[in-house]
Amino acid sequence: MENLFCLRCNRELEAGHKSVAIYMFAQTVGVRPRQKSAARRICFCPQCSVSLAMGPPPEGALNIAAWQMIRDIVGADPSLTEAAWEDLRGFAGLPSATGTDGAARSGMGRYFEF
Ligand SMILES: [Zn+2]
Repeated sequence: MENLFCLRCNRELEAGHKSVAIYMFAQTVGVRPRQKSAARRICFCPQCSVSLAMGPPPEGALNIAAWQMIRDIVGADPSLTEAAWEDLRGFAGLPSATGTDGAARSGMGRYFEF
């Protein structure tokens, strides 16, 4: 299985982790024989999905169409927002709700290097 990366922040998205995938392909209409492009999967991590959904509409008709789809699914269920929030807590080194903050703290130095 191919490794997937968030289109916006380039973070690797491990299989089974929460993310938003947009599937795109193009095909001709009214042309014989019908031409169809390969399908592409474009992925966004939870933070970028939520950030995009809550941000202003982007430039460009295609971007706006994708933005509206992301808004639809981010708004439909809080689990993506929760995943983004959990990641944010981890990156900031804040104690998690369960009190097991070892993993979060170990990620702290890496995050603040830049
Ligand atoms: Zn991202």
